[in-house]
Amino acid sequence: MSARLEINLRKIQYNAHILVQRLAVHGISVTGISKATLGSPAIAKVFQNAGVTMLGDSRIENLEKMKEANVSAPMTLIRTPMLSQIDRIVESADISFNTELKIIKALSRASNLIGRTHGIVLMVELGDLREGIMPSDVETIVRSVIKLPNIEFQGIGTKLACRKGVKPDDKNMAELSALANSIDKKFGITMNIVSGGNSSNLEWVFRGSTIEGKESSRQIGRINNLRLGEAILLGRNPLDREPIKDLYTDAFNLIGEVIEFKVKPSKPWGEMAQAAFGTPPPIKNQGNIHQVLLAIGEQDTDTGGLTPSAGFEILGASSDHIILNAKENSLAIGDEITFELNYSALLRSMTSPFVNKVMEE
Ligand SMILES: *Cc1c(COP(=O)(O)O)cnc(C)c1O
Repeated sequence: MSARLEINLRKIQYNAHILVQRLAVHGISVTGISKATLGSPAIAKVFQNAGVTMLGDSRIENLEKMKEANVSAPMTLIRTPMLSQIDRIVESADISFNTELKIIKALSRASNLIGRTHGIVLMVELGDLREGIMPSDVETIVRSVIKLPNIEFQGIGTKLACRKGVKPDDKNMAELSALANSIDKKFGITMNIVSGGNSSNLEWVFRGSTIEGKESSRQIGRINNLRLGEAILLGRNPLDREPIKDLYTDAFNLIGEVIEFKVKPSKPWGEMAQAAFGTPPPIKNQGNIHQVLLAIGEQDTDTGGLTPSAGFEILGASSDHIILNAKENSLAIGDEITFELNYSALLRSMTSPFVNKVMEE
C-alpha cells in the first residue's frame, strides 16, 4: 500500500463549501473543476454536497467516468472540443467551451442526430493568449451560433493567469462584462453564464491577497460564475500560492516508502556528465549525511512540487526514486515519509497508475 495519495474528502468539502458561500455573497456560482482529480466520482460528489452548481473537466474521459458513476450535476467540457470526439462530447457534456465555429457546427449536427440540445460558452481572449476568440470577433460568432439547431448559446467566459500569468483585474473583468452587456443588447437575450475565470480570480473578487470573504467594493459587473479547481483542492491562491484564509492546504498527502537509509558523502565522485533528467543542479558539500531513498519518483509525481514533512530535505529525484537528507531523523527501512503537493505534483500523482488513491471521510 505504499506510494499512495491520501485524500481527505471532509477537508475538500469544507474548502468547497467556504468558497461557494463567500462567492454567493457576490452573486457568483462555482463550477467545480475535477481534472486534477482524474474525474474522481467521490470528489465530484463532495463538490456537489458543498453546493457547486456545475462540474467541469478538460477531458471527456473524466466526464464520462463521473456520469457512469451517477454524478448528477450538469457537466461542462472546459477545453475546446476535438472534432474527433464530437459524438462523445454531445453524449456526456451538457455544455462545452468553444472558440471555433467549425467545431460548434459539428456539435450542432451531432446533437441533432441524438435529439439533444448542447450548451455553448464562447471563450474570449483577454490577453493571456491561450484559448479565446478576439473580443472584436465575438459578436459575429454569436450571430451564427444562435441560429444553429440543437445548440443553446449559454454565455461567455475567459481564462487568465494560465499560460502567461496575466492577472484578472478591474480592467479585463470590466471588458468581459461590457461584452456580455453589448451582446445581450444586440441580440435581445440575457445570457446565463459569464464565467470570469478560475482560482486566480478569487483575489480580484475579494480584493487583496488574503481572500477573506469580507464584503468587497469590487464592481463584479456581469461575472456570475467562476471555475475552481486548485483553490478547492489545495486551498491556495494560484497567483502567489499563498494559503487562502481558513482553508485546508493538506487535503492531499503523498506518501513514499523508505527503501535505503545510509550514511553517505553528500558530494559525488568520478567524472561528471548529464544525469537521467539533464544536468543536475550543483551540489553543496555538506560532508557525510543520512541519505534516504524513497520508492517514489518522477513517474509517480512532479518531485519538484513536493514539500516533505519537517526535518527532511529533498536532494534530488529520478524516475523511480526521491533522494532525501534525513538530517537528525532516524529512520528504518519500510518507514514512510509524507509530502504536501502543489498542483503539478497533484495532477501527476492522480494520473499515475503506480500511486494508490486512498479516500478518507
Ligand atoms: C483547469 C481549468 C480551470 C481551473 O483552474 P484552477 O486554477 O484549478 O482553478 C478553469 N478553467 C479552465 C478552462 C481550465 O482549463
